[in-house]
Amino acid sequence: MGKHIYIHIPFCERKCAYCDFYSIEDHHLLEQYFDALRKEIAGVTIVPDVNPDTRDTVYFGGGTPTVPDANLLCDILLLVRKRFCINKDAEITIECNPNSVNYSKFLKYREAGFNRVSIGVQSLHDKTLKILGRLHDRERALESIEEAKMAGFENISCDLMIGVPSQTKDDILEDAKILIDRGVCHISMYSLMIEEGTPFYDRYRNIEDFVDPDLERDMYHSLRDFLSANGLEPYEISNCGKMSEHNMSYWKGMEYYAFGAGASGYLNGIRFSHPRSVKDYVKDPFHVDEEEKVGISGKMNEYMMLMLRTSDGPSKEEFQKRFNKSMDDVFANEIKRLCDQELIVVDDKGIRLTHKGLDLANQAFEEFV
Ligand code: SF4
Repeated sequence: MGKHIYIHIPFCERKCAYCDFYSIEDHHLLEQYFDALRKEIAGVTIVPDVNPDTRDTVYFGGGTPTVPDANLLCDILLLVRKRFCINKDAEITIECNPNSVNYSKFLKYREAGFNRVSIGVQSLHDKTLKILGRLHDRERALESIEEAKMAGFENISCDLMIGVPSQTKDDILEDAKILIDRGVCHISMYSLMIEEGTPFYDRYRNIEDFVDPDLERDMYHSLRDFLSANGLEPYEISNCGKMSEHNMSYWKGMEYYAFGAGASGYLNGIRFSHPRSVKDYVKDPFHVDEEEKVGISGKMNEYMMLMLRTSDGPSKEEFQKRFNKSMDDVFANEIKRLCDQELIVVDDKGIRLTHKGLDLANQAFEEFV
């Protein structure tokens, strides 16, 4: 039985000007936060028999999970492993930023059982890192990769951001080459999104004035092609290389536990979210402020929309197995419309986004909302 567990650590050293994730710079409730996490994990009702046929996965995301003391985090992992009887071969990921880690922290994480690390490199060009307001520079990013390797991590993922003002296509391809040469086996590529309410919204509200949309798309496809040609096969819109089994469980519509302020989970057919407030979470770690029962038609729509993100796409056989219905019958109109717009291709196995569909993915997903 695959258990998938997400734990949110909403603390960062400094809030990045473009970031819309739930994370805070104020750490005065950090100790209480970990007490609340322990309480929630110890008290959660275990759901039997979730997700047959998959490996267990645990994912510490944020925020920056490596900001708190490493012992605090490793204790939480220990508790999770005991409470959920996590398999020895589970994929256990920790997200980090180059500035909040060092060799001895990596060593502690590795010894505690983490076996995958996702590093927020974003760029290996100092001018781009400066614009993004990141705390690290190129040198520190590369050092952190070496430290992770020295500590025994083999499964290393790095994030790269594209479409940052003044960035060039060559910058991005050069970064990708260096990361692959350093042994990074997975790259997540994210387009800079300008979110309302962030300082970047005031600065770059009309991002097209700063980054040519055609150049941004060219960067995306060139990076994707480069990664594919160099052994990091794209398996999802933004992800290439050795698959993240945890993230794949989301796209396959599997159920997962979620702990911590701002964390969203899916259990017993119910999607739920914890409030985005550390203050509220420490008062009551079991409180959820959003709950939605997903009915059968919601499940079918979610399956189509989430799997469309992946390179394999929604599978006709899997759809039939899960819902005892034919995908072609249930979604005949949607599939026809997407085909007419050349956003998907259809074959015996299922449907997949085209090159154009990758650029207009949100438009394609709309069909299944
Ligand atoms: S480090 Fe990551 S989570 Fe923290 S503020 Fe920056 S982008 Fe957001």
